[in-house]
Formats: sequence, structure tokens, C-alpha cells
Amino acid sequence: MAQSILFLAHVSDAGSTLPKASYEVLGAALKLREQSGGRLTIGLIGENVEAAAETIAGCGAERILAVTGSDFAGARYASDAAAAEAICRAAAADLILAPATSRFMRVLAGVAHRLGGCVDTHVTSLEIVSGKVCATRWYYRQRIEGVIRRDGAPWIVLLESGCSVAWAGAVTKATIEQIPVALPQAGRRTVVSGVRAPKSDAQTIRPDAGLLFVAGAGWTKKQADGKPHVEQAEALILDFLRVSGASLGGSKSLVDQSGESQAVLGFMTHLNQVGQTGSTPRHPKGLSTCCHGEEPHVVGWRFINERRAVNLDPNCGWARGKADVLYVADAFEVMAKLNALLQESRQPAIETAAQLA
Ligand SMILES: Cc1cc2nc3c(=O)[nH]c(=O)nc-3n(C[C@H](O)[C@H](O)[C@H](O)COP(=O)(O)OP(=O)(O)OC[C@H]3O[C@@H](n4cnc5c(N)ncnc54)[C@H](O)[C@@H]3O)c2cc1C
Repeated sequence: MAQSILFLAHVSDAGSTLPKASYEVLGAALKLREQSGGRLTIGLIGENVEAAAETIAGCGAERILAVTGSDFAGARYASDAAAAEAICRAAAADLILAPATSRFMRVLAGVAHRLGGCVDTHVTSLEIVSGKVCATRWYYRQRIEGVIRRDGAPWIVLLESGCSVAWAGAVTKATIEQIPVALPQAGRRTVVSGVRAPKSDAQTIRPDAGLLFVAGAGWTKKQADGKPHVEQAEALILDFLRVSGASLGGSKSLVDQSGESQAVLGFMTHLNQVGQTGSTPRHPKGLSTCCHGEEPHVVGWRFINERRAVNLDPNCGWARGKADVLYVADAFEVMAKLNALLQESRQPAIETAAQLA
């Protein structure tokens, strides 16, 4: 049973809030505290955490600890590890919950080692079973679900986003206890000199989008006139992403084509690949186009709640129970019509897709 829980977070890049996933972890921490009757401490890291602390001060935590200052503004292993270690020692918690952000994924295993504790990543849920905290995570590309219990302490658990209900409450004044950290000169050696990010319209992977749009190899195959129409496919897909705000996924066959010198969609990379050897994104809805719906691909749709597909083949994998709705149709025609309707109405894409049914 967790007697003492620490919710650990860093501020978002903008500085005034926490990353979205942090509010979900706070929701999970509060639920666990309710079940265990233990204490909850909040620990925050950032240049200035006051505004972010005020967004969660109303949650009823006993203490809010913070390591602040310009040394702790950005992601850097040495300063983040020192800050997290100091907060964990001050909180003396036996269970430490943190969001699986890239900043924390890099650093918290090292912190667990310094504390003589243990760590688990990619955790999707936590509950108390027979008086012990149990963490759940998936193995073998989301096919096997494992339940973990640990006797070691402190136990650091990094929770995946999209798995718990986010805590939300009114902004309230926060009483913050500053934890001093003397960072040695060697801890400042690495300096972030700037950020290079793709233009926002080139950023096709959008974890927070309501819809996952998946393109398969069919977009580059010969069509009814005996020729491929890759340029048209590119324009249709990019238009749809622009007007719908959907996130873009791809099948393995499609993303592999770029390495095989075939006609390719220029914006599609291996990072977009969904499936057994790709990613398992979490979105409320998914729309698959020109993709066959083979099992190694569809296993990546595990966390898509509502699935629809467009395929010319009425006997494709989607038709065999893998999609809620299959449109047996030409995806070039469907997407052209969908884009036109979206341009007209500027309604969320999925509503318009439903109207087409
Ligand atoms: C160990 C292993 C791991 C794998 N991991 C993955 C993975 O992680 N992700 C993954 O995606 N795959 C994975 N695969 C490959 C997977 O099994 C499939 O081969 C792949 O997903 C098929 O891709 P596809 O459907 O895009 O292409 P295809 O199988 O070529 O299908 C193209 C589809 O497009 C349709 N089509 C063509 N033109 C149109 C049109 N105008 N309108 C509508 N439909 C049209 C066709 O009817 C066809 O169904 C894995 C395979 C193995 C063995």
C-alpha cells in the first residue's frame, strides 16, 4: 500500500502550465491516494513554477515542493536528475508518479538508481490489489498485458498519456516550498542553444488529435486507368490533414517504399508507421484509406476507439471485424468529396465522414 505518493512534473515549454499528460498523472495519483488513504506531495521542476503550481494547487495535496531557477528551465540530464533527486529525497515518498514525457523518460531511471529504488516506464494503469499497488503495461507490441508489483522503494512509475482522466480544477494560490539544489559547474556543461522544429503544417504526427488518418500503400498503386497517381494522392492527403487537424499514420508497406526508390508520398516517414513494428497511437477515432487492414498493421489500432476504413476490396482485412464501418469505395473519390465538404463547412472531419455513410 502506498503510504506516501509524490506526483512529479516539469513545467511545459511555455512555462505557465504543465504538459497535458501531467494532469492525467495527477488524476491517477489522486485516485490512488483515495484508495490507499496515504499522503500526496507535488514536486515541480522549472525556471519558474508558480503559474503552473496554481493550476493544480486546488487538488488537495499536502505539500508542493519545487526546484526552480534558470538552471532548471530546459531539459538537460544533469540538472533534471539533480532536481528530481532532491525533490524525491525531500518528499520521502514510497511511490513516485510522473508523466512519460521525453524529458522525464531520459532522466528518471537514473534518478531511481541514485535513490536505490526501482523504476517502470510505459505504465498504462495503476490500482491497489490485495493492499499492494499494481502497475499495468503492455509487452510484445501491445499483445501481452503485464501486471507489475514491486517491493523496492521508492518506486518511480512513468505513466503513458491518454490512459487516465486528467485532473481539472480552478486556479488557486499555491504555497510552494523551495528545495535548494547546488548544481556543480559540470552540471551546466550542456546548453540548449536553440530549437529546430518542423513548420507546424509539416508536423503530421499530432498525438492530441481527435482523429488518426492512416494511408496505406494503395495510394501509390496503379489505379483503374492503369497508372499510379501519387501527386494527386499527396495533395488529397495533405488537404485533409490541413482542414481536419488529424494525425497521420502509415502502413509499413507505404513507409518502406521510400527506402526502395519507389514513387512515394514525400511527407511520409517511418515515424508515421502504425502497427506491430510501428507505433500504437491513442486517438478517439481512426480512418484508414488504401490500406488492407492486415493483422500486423491493425494491432497498432488497439487504442483507437472507433475505426473506419475506405477500401476498394470488399474482402479486405477491415471487413473481417477489424473496422466498425468499411466504405467499399475509391479513396481518391471519397477524400476529394470529404475535403470539399470540409472546406465548405469547416466542421470537424469525423462528423462529415459520418454524413457520407
Ligand atoms: C512481423 C511483421 C510485422 C509487421 N509490422 C507491420 C506494422 O507495424 N505496420 C504495418 O502497417 N504493417 C506491418 N506488417 C506488414 C503488414 O502485414 C502488411 O503487409 C502491410 O500493412 C500492408 O500494407 P498496405 O495495406 O498499405 O498495402 P497492401 O497490402 O498493398 O494493400 C493496399 C490496399 O489498398 C487498396 N486500394 C488500392 N487502391 C485503392 C483505392 N483507390 N481506394 C481504396 N482502396 C484502394 C487495395 O484494395 C489494398 O487492400 C508487418 C508484417 C510482418 C510479417
